[in-house]
Amino acid sequence: MTLSFWSPESLGIPSRQNLILWNDIELAYNFVEAHARYSISGDLQGFLLELVRKRWNLACADLYEPPPQIAQVPGSHSMLEALSQPPSGLELGRVDKLALGKGFLNKFKAFAASAAPIQAGGKTGKLYGYGTDGYGTYIPLHLLWPDFRKYWGIYISEAGVLSLAANLYNQLPIHQLSLLPQDGNHPVEKIIQIAYQVILRHQLFHFKIEQWALLFELATGQAYYLPYLEYVYLPTIYATDDNNLEEALANLSVLLSKKILKLEKEVDQNVKGLIESIFLRQQGFNYRNYDLAKGVPPEVQHINREIRYRKVVNYLCNQIIQHEIRPRAPIVPYYLYPPNNNFLRAENLCPIYLVRNLPNEVGVIA
Ligand SMILES: [Zn+2]
Repeated sequence: MTLSFWSPESLGIPSRQNLILWNDIELAYNFVEAHARYSISGDLQGFLLELVRKRWNLACADLYEPPPQIAQVPGSHSMLEALSQPPSGLELGRVDKLALGKGFLNKFKAFAASAAPIQAGGKTGKLYGYGTDGYGTYIPLHLLWPDFRKYWGIYISEAGVLSLAANLYNQLPIHQLSLLPQDGNHPVEKIIQIAYQVILRHQLFHFKIEQWALLFELATGQAYYLPYLEYVYLPTIYATDDNNLEEALANLSVLLSKKILKLEKEVDQNVKGLIESIFLRQQGFNYRNYDLAKGVPPEVQHINREIRYRKVVNYLCNQIIQHEIRPRAPIVPYYLYPPNNNFLRAENLCPIYLVRNLPNEVGVIA
């Protein structure tokens, strides 16, 4: 059954997203790139290939010898290749706000009735192997310069949103409430909005971390983001000791999201508990560390979750500045300048795309 958030005719319609801020980010980036002693830009293809290689090792290392050449790794097409030369059927729609069309409610109910349950899928499964990033991805502008307007942004799998929404819907008692009005306030619409927000909030966290690094690059004229990716993010992302705090925090930011909390209150159901049990808890290493039990300083392991989140975001900032998995003392308190401040909370701060029909073999999202 075909179900979609946008019609093909709506593609390419100019967005009302925050073009002024995007322009400011571009100015800041170009300034640092022009004046820093070293380039702050990197290679997206190389980064994605390294991610794919690590995924391959995670999924197949028990079964096969490592491949002699990266080109032979399954799924080694980069997402960028797919976007620049779209395979047939791939569609991209830029979204300001997820808008559901007329008649969507009944279509969604029929869709949910036949939707497959979300399964972690073991080491080769999408949810276990890729975590929330199996449902969306963020392409950092540091990997795109000088042409970053073309691809920079958040990409969200439409199929992923619908699958998560259908699973939430099927497990909440709201599907019994058939007498509720079929208008924009229907709880089913809110469930779909929540599923969208789950994936969006995770990706916005990646965006905020990159912006925070860019702020330091602007202030100091030194590269921070790429060394962080090379020495902290990449070595930890598919290791099995839960040391990748960016993914753990991105998942926790979903549970702490005020936007999702508001929608949850409107639905009047324990949706976050369900998101945790059917989605977050099923994910593999690092992603599943969203309670921040591992990879963090011992003194923050037993404090209140919101304060722990704040302290570990600060710890991650120190990882970025030192590009060390275990930053040395003193840990600098950046609390006045956190990545998740009010300025960067809104969702129109970077381009957001819904992706439909991205082939499975294309790396980051499916
Ligand atoms: Zn992520």
